Amino acid sequence: MEQYNIDQKIQEFIAKIEAKNPNEPEFLQAVKEVAVTVIPFIATKKEYNGMKLLERMAEAERIIIFRVPWVDDKGEIQVNRGFRIQMNSAIGPYKGGIRFHPTVNLSVLKFLAFEQVFKNSLTTLPMGGGKGGSDFDPQGKSDMEVMRFCQAFMTELCKHIGPETDVPAGDIGVGAREIGYLFGQYKKIRNEFTGVLTGKGLAYGGSLIRPEATGYGVVYFAEQMLKTIGQDFKGKTVTVSGFGNVAWGVIKKATELGAKVVTISGPDGYIYDKDGISGEKIDYLLELRSSGNNRAEDYAKKYPSAEFHAGKRPWDVKCDVAFPSATQNELDLDDARKLVENGCLCVTEAANMPSTLDAINYFLDNKVLFSPGKASNAGGVATSGLEMTQNSIRLNWTSEEVDARLKEIMIGIHKACRDYGKDEDGYVNYVKGANIAGFVKVAEAMLAQGVV
Ligand code: GLU
Repeated sequence: MEQYNIDQKIQEFIAKIEAKNPNEPEFLQAVKEVAVTVIPFIATKKEYNGMKLLERMAEAERIIIFRVPWVDDKGEIQVNRGFRIQMNSAIGPYKGGIRFHPTVNLSVLKFLAFEQVFKNSLTTLPMGGGKGGSDFDPQGKSDMEVMRFCQAFMTELCKHIGPETDVPAGDIGVGAREIGYLFGQYKKIRNEFTGVLTGKGLAYGGSLIRPEATGYGVVYFAEQMLKTIGQDFKGKTVTVSGFGNVAWGVIKKATELGAKVVTISGPDGYIYDKDGISGEKIDYLLELRSSGNNRAEDYAKKYPSAEFHAGKRPWDVKCDVAFPSATQNELDLDDARKLVENGCLCVTEAANMPSTLDAINYFLDNKVLFSPGKASNAGGVATSGLEMTQNSIRLNWTSEEVDARLKEIMIGIHKACRDYGKDEDGYVNYVKGANIAGFVKVAEAMLAQGVV
């Protein structure tokens, strides 16, 4: 098909999705990024033509929105909103995390669920895509408040999920503590001990390596990207944003492979540590997080080698490799320009959709190695898939075994991105590669299953 017709098709498709989903900017952003790469591909495949595969994928199979009333420590009634987006079950049960954060709304969760469909497909494991969450903010809440909230949330959610239907996990604001409370309530109401959630504690069916998996997977992926230009992590300067679970895993693994990580960030600003964040400093990050603190400034107070930059993001710091590991749209066009100007070789997304569309296009135009989160952060959900397998066979694998499988999966995703994303000049467009490779498996399953 001529380029003109394809561009028109893309525009028409986006206009249709926009009209159906007004006031959902994050969801539209995620769909646009996929549409511009996948629609030209669909045009080359006769059997996909007219099957409305992408249009079907952009419409959730089911969305559940529910009231979550709970009582705080003062005895006051609080009301939050709960969501579960069951996006696509063509290749397996819905699978994806739960996010508790005040910014959670329908648009944010739909973008995350849409991305999850492609990400889960890339892992090669049999998992469909979903996402859930609430506008509840765990920051500053007592343990008992968090527990009561989780119980109230699960009292409704348990009617819609199950090990063969929908398997939630953690995301921002949902870690081991929350998963424990959610699991306890599910078990009590349904009277079933099943692998209905992943990211569980080791004592009740969790998998070794799951806490580190997202960050480790991101670094394994970046290692493959660097390899394509004959480089590795030894002696590289690395910048990281965020300092949640994902950032922690990235810092641990990148440091182990010989890189020097010089930044982390929180909602208050970022710190630059010229000596590198390694050894006991990494443990201190975990300590800060587990005490419910997400202020980067506290790190600078403890370690005098670190400077604190209030209210800023770390993207103007000179680096070889950057890992945006905080949240959506944390890296814009200006940040992308600064990174390229400073000679950054590789940007590997660790969060979900941290770069704006303009920033992505800038990286691609400048032939920077750039990978989208749906490919590079898929190690988290892949290890969730491995947790599901261990639960099904009622066995636990060793750390070495899980880590080896994780690495193998990340190498496989990298290869799939290369196979579908290589441009004529040899440059690998990982955005195109991830979108097409993720799309193909879901599309094939949908075609085989008819119009359902
Ligand atoms: N929330 C993570 C993600 O964005 C993990 C999901 C899961 O383990 O199901 O992929």
